[in-house]
Amino acid sequence: MTDYAKAREVAEQAREREWTRPSFGKQLFLGDLRLDLVHPVPRPGEEETARGDDFLRALRRFLEDKVDPAAIERESVIPPDVVTGLADLGAFGMKIEPEYGGLGLSHLYYTRALMLVGSYSPAIATLLSAHQSIGVPQPLRLFGTEAQKRAFLPRCARGEISAFLLTEPDVGSDPARLATTAVRDGDHYVLDGVKLWTTNGTVADLLVVMARTGERISAFVVEANTPGITVERRNAFMGLRGIENGLTRFEHVRVPAENLIGREGQGLKIALTTLNTGRLSLPAVCAGTAKWAARIAREWCGTRVQWGRRIGEHEAVAGKIAFIACSAYALEALVDLSSRLADDERNDIRIEAALAKLWASEMAWRVADELVQIRGGRGFETAESLAARGERGVPAEQMLRDLRINRIFEGSTEIMHLLIAREAVDAHLAAAGELVDPTADLRAKAAAARRAGGFYARWLPTLVTGPGSRPGTFAEFEPLAHQLRYVERASRKLARSTFYGMSRWQGRLEHRQRFLGRLVDIGAELFAMTAVCLRARQDAARLGRRPYELADGFCRQARQRVEALFHDLWSNCDDIDARIAGRVLDWRYAFLEEGVLDPSIDGPWIASSAASTASDPRGARARARR
Ligand SMILES: Cc1cc2nc3c(=O)[nH]c(=O)nc-3n(C[C@H](O)[C@H](O)[C@H](O)COP(=O)(O)OP(=O)(O)OC[C@H]3O[C@@H](n4cnc5c(N)ncnc54)[C@H](O)[C@@H]3O)c2cc1C
Repeated sequence: MTDYAKAREVAEQAREREWTRPSFGKQLFLGDLRLDLVHPVPRPGEEETARGDDFLRALRRFLEDKVDPAAIERESVIPPDVVTGLADLGAFGMKIEPEYGGLGLSHLYYTRALMLVGSYSPAIATLLSAHQSIGVPQPLRLFGTEAQKRAFLPRCARGEISAFLLTEPDVGSDPARLATTAVRDGDHYVLDGVKLWTTNGTVADLLVVMARTGERISAFVVEANTPGITVERRNAFMGLRGIENGLTRFEHVRVPAENLIGREGQGLKIALTTLNTGRLSLPAVCAGTAKWAARIAREWCGTRVQWGRRIGEHEAVAGKIAFIACSAYALEALVDLSSRLADDERNDIRIEAALAKLWASEMAWRVADELVQIRGGRGFETAESLAARGERGVPAEQMLRDLRINRIFEGSTEIMHLLIAREAVDAHLAAAGELVDPTADLRAKAAAARRAGGFYARWLPTLVTGPGSRPGTFAEFEPLAHQLRYVERASRKLARSTFYGMSRWQGRLEHRQRFLGRLVDIGAELFAMTAVCLRARQDAARLGRRPYELADGFCRQARQRVEALFHDLWSNCDDIDARIAGRVLDWRYAFLEEGVLDPSIDGPWIASSAASTASDPRGARARARR
């Protein structure tokens, strides 16, 4: 089996195949806008709202009174008293049920809390979300035994920090290559391997470790102070300077067998299922930053005068302000809707959460980039430097740097495209089956062709017309009704385009990554438009027509992007680009690198797994914290 086939098989095994609950996202890609699944938007109960609001108020007070985000950026560390203060507030156990010592907040309030924290200090938001969204609490809540929950959740809720360890120097997007092993030895497993970029790794008390048990991958809860574990480095990054991110080595680490989460071989499935809702935390941080950017854009562009006008009155800048404002509204709407759906539990939200992660990380990056642009030279200057010159220390460049990683971790944009596309074309694959399988024999292919013919004969006619083609539908959305009609029509066009792609490339469709990426991006924009329309309708009750204007503006911007994506599906440079890239890789164009120098420091592309001589940075940090 080739490495590609192996990687694909591992991804398939980890994938949840069953759809036991309805999915708005899945239907959207099938050309079936199931507004009834998301509208009316689920509302939290009164008691939950009161508890959530109380917590948000306390959190806000704590951040304003006790946290200096500029100091975190300057010192590259979150001070121990901030960590202790957050623990006292219950911020490390926001989603953990009260019976295990947590606050038992809903997803809605968890993401609102991360939005608030993320707008102020993305490093603190990362500490909290790595601990709760991917660290020990979430996989244990979903897959842990009662004994495991009783043993570990109260500790997590009290503020013992946890980390999630999947990545290795040679394992990033492709977990099939995972090299860390867990070998059963009596009533223990013995772990050996190296884990890279473990967020919270240098300060963690508890770890979730992914390791190979034979052919499959399993997940373990591991005490960070178990003999044989060394943290060899604290890594430094372009942004998120306050995070505690390490390189962790396991040498003959004995872990009690009862610390296995779920069953042997379930590790990747646990990781993916954890991310189904865990993925909502990054969009929340993105929404927080975008909302903050909207505020800075308003204040700055309404004050700064150039060429006789406030810069916000120059059309080029006005376009950017509108983009920032509309995107911020949409980002919050998307996180809000996805979180409510996660709490409601009637829908399967794995596609929605993945779309939210993908779309939010890309849009927030663009928002921050535009903020830097409209701040001019001040956008490029650090907050400390601005303040030292006597100006307001706006950390625009820091926010841009801090946001960049969201497009890479918890599933890079490229991997999210593939993951979502896999679900989007699932109906086709189920119908066409062996037809697209290059290894299937002719009889199987003939049977698959008959099956697929039947499916398409029933399905294609449903894509010709729908409520979006009839004037007057979705009238309850008042001025936004036409935007929802567009979403409905575009959803059918999306499904037809997927079908055309499937017919054209069949089994090779999975390699048309840019085509698939565009399909997914269209789906993400349509989901965002839906979320915005629902949100504006809710907000209008409180705020009058203003939310409608903003939502309509957002939908118009999103439609421009959708139309461009539809166009690029069939008119693009994909084949030429692939040929050029192949030639770049073959050194054909090495001549273009003449006349420049490479400032890189010497070293191999991937470090060897041999032990380094660096000292463990945990001792000093742990002492400081306790
Ligand atoms: C600050 C930070 C914090 C992190 N925190 C954690 C953590 O807490 N726990 C943890 O386990 N990991 C963590 N990571 C690791 C992170 O999840 C990985 O960086 C990410 O999964 C990508 O893996 P990689 O860096 O090895 O990139 P690679 O997999 O080497 O990918 C390189 C590029 O190729 C693309 N690519 C790869 N495969 C494909 C494909 N099949 N098709 C198309 N494109 C492809 C990628 O999208 C990317 O653009 C962290 C990383 C950073 C930088």
